[in-house]
Amino acid sequence: MDGNAPDPRYWEKMRLVAEVLKAVEGPIYIATHVDPDGDAIGSSLGLYRSLKALGKEAYWVAEPPRFLRFLPKEEEYSDPVDKLPVGATLVALDSAEPSRVVGVPVEGFVINIDHHGTNPRFGHIAVVDPSKAATAQMVKDLIDLLGVEWTAEIATPVLTGILTDTGNFRFANTTPEVLRVAAELVGYGVKLAELTDRLQFRPPSYFRLMGQVLSTVAFHFGGLLVTAHLPEDAKREEEDSDDFVGLIRYVEGSVVSVFLRKREEGVKVSIRSRGGVSAQNIALKLEGGGHVPAAGATLKDVDLDRAYELVLEAVAEELRRAGYL
Ligand code: 5GP
Ligand code: MN
Repeated sequence: MDGNAPDPRYWEKMRLVAEVLKAVEGPIYIATHVDPDGDAIGSSLGLYRSLKALGKEAYWVAEPPRFLRFLPKEEEYSDPVDKLPVGATLVALDSAEPSRVVGVPVEGFVINIDHHGTNPRFGHIAVVDPSKAATAQMVKDLIDLLGVEWTAEIATPVLTGILTDTGNFRFANTTPEVLRVAAELVGYGVKLAELTDRLQFRPPSYFRLMGQVLSTVAFHFGGLLVTAHLPEDAKREEEDSDDFVGLIRYVEGSVVSVFLRKREEGVKVSIRSRGGVSAQNIALKLEGGGHVPAAGATLKDVDLDRAYELVLEAVAEELRRAGYL
């Protein structure tokens, strides 16, 4: 089976999810992936607010990164939990693997809603549809099925997920349907210009860091691949965002870009591609996953030099497959 194919039973399963969530009397935990992005936070906050509007006992376990912290109120998100109570329901959103779910154990009745083709379809109900631009787009459908009344408070995080995963409607996943959904959400009172502006805010230290990162830019395979990394001596604040791969992917003539950063658990790589090259294939070779144009992996127990070697090998293989080498 092609993991990237749309789910033919999408509506049937989403209706089932809505029925289950409406019927549940016990606690519902909502969680998302490690290093949450706009779709992770937006989809989970949108669903959390909808379930609260239905009067459900819902908990949103998350740690929003600084650039998204303006979205929730502090009392809306809960600290990590080691164990879920008996009878709990867990909704895992935008999480490509159970091991990527952060803050809660993957237990109880598990509902997996995601759009990553590499998702192994874990959980008791798995609605995984890679044809959707964002998990937030799927949550929009779920909220409709739940019959919750749309408000700006619910529509704003949902639109945030769509905005960030489509690069503000610039990526290939921006279908007519995505634009229609976005238009509908704006109609519920989202302040679009204010939201897109706010989503780009970064702390002053981020811009200094950007200079250091850009000084590491390198070109490989005649410019088909562009790389950069976080220098080990870079003055980095915990709060700095890491979306530098989105910057270097615009080098003329490049079809793949990779950003590497050393962390405690290994070297995290972020991969973006175009022109028939699959970032997903490259990530899978590195034991990661993701989407065809945007994917990632964490290389365990390696230093930066070794990580570069592994990345170059994996990219070369994919460039050969795609006919570039
Ligand atoms: P990013 O480079 O922004 O961290 O991730 C790009 C995409 O790939 C995201 O959709 C993210 O969820 C996914 N991704 C990143 N790292 C991993 C990983 O280690 N495993 C899997 N399965 N997906 C990943
Ligand atoms: Mn997503």
